[in-house]
Amino acid sequence: MFGKIEIPGKIRDVIDILGENGYKGYIVGGCVRDMLMDKIPHDFDITTDAFPEETVSCFADHRVILTGLKHGTVTVVHEGENIEITTFRTDGRYLDNRHPENVTFVRNIEEDLSRRDFTVNAMAYNPSVGLVDLFEGQKDIEKKTIRCVGNADTRFNEDGLRILRAMRFASVLGFEVERSTAESVISNRELLKNISAERIYSELTKLILGNKAIDTLLEFYPVLETVLGKVPREGIELLDLLPPDHTLRYAALLCDRTPEKSASTMRSLKTDNETCRAVKLIVSSVGLELPKSSSDRFNTECAYLLSRYGKSDLERIITFKRALAHPNEMEMAELDRLLEKVKEISDSGACVSIKQLSVDGGMLASVGVPKTSEMGRVLQALLGAVIEGEIPNERDPLLEMAKKLIK
Ligand code: ATP
Ligand code: MG
Repeated sequence: MFGKIEIPGKIRDVIDILGENGYKGYIVGGCVRDMLMDKIPHDFDITTDAFPEETVSCFADHRVILTGLKHGTVTVVHEGENIEITTFRTDGRYLDNRHPENVTFVRNIEEDLSRRDFTVNAMAYNPSVGLVDLFEGQKDIEKKTIRCVGNADTRFNEDGLRILRAMRFASVLGFEVERSTAESVISNRELLKNISAERIYSELTKLILGNKAIDTLLEFYPVLETVLGKVPREGIELLDLLPPDHTLRYAALLCDRTPEKSASTMRSLKTDNETCRAVKLIVSSVGLELPKSSSDRFNTECAYLLSRYGKSDLERIITFKRALAHPNEMEMAELDRLLEKVKEISDSGACVSIKQLSVDGGMLASVGVPKTSEMGRVLQALLGAVIEGEIPNERDPLLEMAKKLIK
């Protein structure tokens, strides 16, 4: 019924070394949950009763990295892999719904598991001890339920980010949030105002990429509103129609804002500039007229679009408009033809950018094109002529044309 727990060799070695030194190491959290669900974990966290300096002495013959020491984490480099080992700990009093005032290292695993957020995340496994499941995590996996360890209000007050994490795991794992945890998610949503934008962005991004994002966001709409402001229902419902590209999905949620507003919302989440730029572009292209496949100039106009946006932005724009066109099958089929054509042109290596022209600024300067804004204008005109098929993308005809253009 449950997936089998198999520990990769290098992780197993590290647990064995702790064992040989009289300590116990367990794999813990997401990796245990994922394996019980028959999913392949993307990383393995190890927790142990060895205090950090004891862990270090267990691995005296290894390279160790001590950057996480404050939180009890020692990173051991074992056979070329960085493996994090964290001492069992309890979080001290939470002063600001964000950071525990201090962390205390402890010797028993019960305390460590009880500081974890949800029952499905609070299981640990050691090959000789077996599975340690103190809060019915397995039962909740079976019932597909996200439930806080302990009292939900208390746990959300300790760390407001858990509100969004509950939604993230529901969306990604396809689970329901248990009733009292769910009520507490809604009623404590204001606590998210104390949480840093970076932490919110990281959880929200995983949430909107999850399989159950729409249901989760509709069920917990007030939380979404706390984080992003008002979001149209139609935007939320677009999520399933879009591939798992976070820029497209943020654009869906922000599609009723002006491009500038969408960008400032993204900036307030402290996203990277590239994400911010892409979201703004997608939102601003909602009203963009696209070429019709029935037009004689379909190929040429597609090439112009490619030259203006580049392949990956243009594909995003068309994919977004295709989702907006849903369920109009004619419109969607038309956008599929456009996507196909864009791919064809771009795979053919046809010249759609100044970079691809068979002449460059240096060559143009040698036939007398001034190195001023005139240079840009001439390059643009040459590209236009190549796209239109008026001249081939070859050096001599391009230089001839350049000379005429500056006369
Ligand atoms: P993922 O597969 O996304 O990495 P994960 O369960 O490993 O999921 P992480 O955010 O990597 O999630 O956290 C690792 C573990 O640390 C969690 O499983 C949970 O036990 C604990 N944890 C992380 N963040 C919190 C938190 N804010 N409050 C309590 N426990 C937390
Ligand atoms: Mg993890």
